[in-house]
Amino acid sequence: MSPLENPVCPLYIGGKWVNPADKAGSPVFNPSRGSIIASVPMCGAAEVDLAVASAKAAFPAWRDTPPNERAQVLFRAKILLDDAFEDLCLGIATEHGKTLSEARGDLRRGIEVVEFACGVPTLLMGECLENIARGIDCHTDRHPLGVVAGICPFNFPALVPMWMWPIAIACGNTFLLKPSEKVPLTMQRVVALLEKAGLPPGVMNVVHGGRECVDAILEHPDVKAISFVGSTPVAREIHRKGTSHGKRVQAAGGAKNFIILMPDADVDRTVEAVKDGAFGCAGERCMAGSTAVAVGDAGEKLLPALADLVKAMKTGPTDVREFQPDMGAVISAEHRARVSGLIDAGEHAGAKVLADGRPTRVDEAPEGFFLGPTLLDHVDETNPLMETEVFGPVLAVMRAKTLDDAIDVANRQAFGNGAAIFTNSGKAAREFRRRVSAGMVGINVGVPAPLAYFPFSGWNDSFFGDLHIQGKEGVEFYTQRKTTTTRWFGYGDGEIWAK
Ligand code: NAD
Repeated sequence: MSPLENPVCPLYIGGKWVNPADKAGSPVFNPSRGSIIASVPMCGAAEVDLAVASAKAAFPAWRDTPPNERAQVLFRAKILLDDAFEDLCLGIATEHGKTLSEARGDLRRGIEVVEFACGVPTLLMGECLENIARGIDCHTDRHPLGVVAGICPFNFPALVPMWMWPIAIACGNTFLLKPSEKVPLTMQRVVALLEKAGLPPGVMNVVHGGRECVDAILEHPDVKAISFVGSTPVAREIHRKGTSHGKRVQAAGGAKNFIILMPDADVDRTVEAVKDGAFGCAGERCMAGSTAVAVGDAGEKLLPALADLVKAMKTGPTDVREFQPDMGAVISAEHRARVSGLIDAGEHAGAKVLADGRPTRVDEAPEGFFLGPTLLDHVDETNPLMETEVFGPVLAVMRAKTLDDAIDVANRQAFGNGAAIFTNSGKAAREFRRRVSAGMVGINVGVPAPLAYFPFSGWNDSFFGDLHIQGKEGVEFYTQRKTTTTRWFGYGDGEIWAK
């Protein structure tokens, strides 16, 4: 049976699709329908051992494959990904619940990382200084680490794993991927394309599971580095455990991204961008603009138009190509209940509800995990909505008298992924850019998520580690430098050598 038709997600080990025996399964849902579409085996140390052994065995030959030959596999993978683009996107929309257009963004950004990785040979080049002492030269070059692993969240089934493996394998490492157990199908399809592109067996391996599986990866002595993306408590723990086992770790965590609205902002463009930033992917984005701070009378100028836009949004199923809503379902019934409970608590604490997504019912998909977009005004710092990452279709609006107050309130929270300002004032933008404590800043850009060539540079509790994901920092993370100092004595024999 093709791995793509199998209702139980197989593992991919040593170039073979493997069904682990006797493993408990965890259901994979289509959130638009609330229906189970597959099951994922919850693996542990035994399966991780097999996958790591396969990656370790494949490493010497892959390391010794010239970088341009490794890149050729990625060039072929890029073409296959482009050919399968629309089918993959419908698969993403189906297992995640985001709209087809959001799924296209998810995969397109991922393919851009593959394109970046095709050019990695240039970034692997070393440096040399001749004659550091008489007759002695010194050069550094980059070497892959060995077996490296990637552990992924549910919210970008394509992009997040593709932040990791294209760069890692282009650098000559072999890879162990653990996709989110909630959305394992997209990478299953992508790995089948990698096989078709000619990736040698063992260079990419896939295991499934939750904490037990992750712990086995963190403790495995042959895993040299871990890339993790997920919530902050888990990211912090992965960084602690991974580094205590001697591994290099980059761990990206959760977020609460502040959007400062200045009174001089362009109304139409700002409200459109703020709406997209808060409710794109049903707010399940680490770069979602989930908290707006309206400065001065910006609230009075912008919020009526924003509320109208939010109320006009259509929420519905995303798994039919021809009929696409503005916003899809959230990932699970439990997550819907959690977010809905946070809205209740936020309202109870004094926030004013300008648009209420809680009563949303979708007739054509009554079992789907739908929660409409919700806009709350007059949220203060003590509101329960401010205590945690909401990660749902909720925009909380705070009020501030001055830009300084707005920056201070943004900087008092623990995260530091993204932040944005909407203004026509260069001075306000400059102050904000310099002083806000976040690693990715937007000036009149609501979701300042950088493309493949830049690091995804979260700060504070949004990132644990030193080298960020993607771009040149990604290459740095997946390689280690060797510095060689060379001296040759004397001359050879014969007349060709001047004595
Ligand atoms: P999550 O932390 O629940 O899970 C992420 C991964 O960790 C999954 O593969 C899961 O199986 C595993 N995991 C879960 N609990 C674990 C535990 N106790 N020990 C070991 N492994 C564990 O995150 P999620 O709900 O899948 O994804 C949403 C989160 O990811 C949000 O907080 C979001 O902000 C964050 N995120 C961050 C970025 C970023 O770049 N900073 C990008 C995307 C998502």
